[in-house]
Amino acid sequence: MTALDTTHDPKLRSWLTSANTAGCDFPIQNLPFCRFRRLGSRESWRIGTAIGDQVLDLRAAGVIDTDDMNALMSTAPVERRALRARISAGLREGSADLAAWDQALLPQAQAEYTLPCRIGDYTDFYTGIHHATAVGKLFRPDQPLMPNYKWVPIGYHGRASSIVVSGQAFKRPRGQTKAPDASTPSFELSRRLDYELELGFIVAAGNALGAPVPIQQAEDHLFGVCLLNDWSARDLQAWEYQPLGPFLAKNFASTISPWIVTMEALAPFRAKFERPPDDPQPMPYLDCVGNRERGNLDIVLEVWLETPRMREAGEAPAQLSRSRSAQAAYWTAAQLIAHHTVNGCNLQAGDLLGSGTLSGASADQAGSLLELTQGGKQPISLPNGERRTFLEDGDALILRAYCQAPGAVRIGFGEARGTVLPG
Ligand code: MN
Repeated sequence: MTALDTTHDPKLRSWLTSANTAGCDFPIQNLPFCRFRRLGSRESWRIGTAIGDQVLDLRAAGVIDTDDMNALMSTAPVERRALRARISAGLREGSADLAAWDQALLPQAQAEYTLPCRIGDYTDFYTGIHHATAVGKLFRPDQPLMPNYKWVPIGYHGRASSIVVSGQAFKRPRGQTKAPDASTPSFELSRRLDYELELGFIVAAGNALGAPVPIQQAEDHLFGVCLLNDWSARDLQAWEYQPLGPFLAKNFASTISPWIVTMEALAPFRAKFERPPDDPQPMPYLDCVGNRERGNLDIVLEVWLETPRMREAGEAPAQLSRSRSAQAAYWTAAQLIAHHTVNGCNLQAGDLLGSGTLSGASADQAGSLLELTQGGKQPISLPNGERRTFLEDGDALILRAYCQAPGAVRIGFGEARGTVLPG
């Protein structure tokens, strides 16, 4: 697991003053990666790192000689740390790189982004135990959690082709659904369109087919973390999910943030992984000292909604919830990698592992409308007087996240925003 080094020093300041502003998502201690180009241009995508309100073009700065993010992500952990150290040194106050690197900056407001890497495969897990319990209660009040939940990290293989980057809109999906009191299903636009607040774990170097990744080495195979909104059509889902799990209710769109916050940047924000004493302890292949001591990530997660009326009135988005990943997730990212590969399945650089919906324990910490509205029965009220049970056309849903800890500079994830278009 990544140790603290000089790149995490809270006293570090950048020659770029916007990076030194309190509350900035992208101080010099963060340095997340993206793929970007000049807004509205047809230029090829380039690898960048966020600093303050700018993107640093890493090839133009002479730090890398590739535009292939997956290749960069597959390099050894020691090389990734060296790259971070090089970028950090060049952006520091007093750096001799200022004159050259200043020419390699583009304001984030003048950039457009694509997916931060090529995502070959996408697996969505279900690690949010409060989410699993709350949703389970809606369907099975006596036994909300299935008997396997505390033993095996539950997941399903998702669809990579429909993952889009923040800022894009998608059409409300259409499909089969069946009302509980109807005798036959109908074919219609989804009326119960929802979001899911998740983290996305991006795989660094993969493993060979047939060669499981031991949990002690799992984090070497983890490049970093992004925000993930697993849009969900609950009415389609309820009719189609048995017996093989989600399908068309999930694969019409998934939105991720443009930035991958690296595991190195997250080093100051690790937390213990503990199981309540009455719960089953993880099986040996899902357990190690490092995972117990620092396996968790302490990330504050927020959901915001901007309705068309708010947009027209020039009002700020309304916050729907706030939760913390370390209190929401029943399994760590290292456990997900160890479990995913334990049968010999090969992960590849750029693969995306979704955490599952990271709801907190209390009702106002819920990471989906399904939970906030108790299955669509209790609409929520917004500050401007509007109400929502599920998402309406024109709604923009925004995920944000940040980390803070004593002795560390706050770092942020930017945002994952998506807008619902009429179907
Ligand atoms: Mn999900």
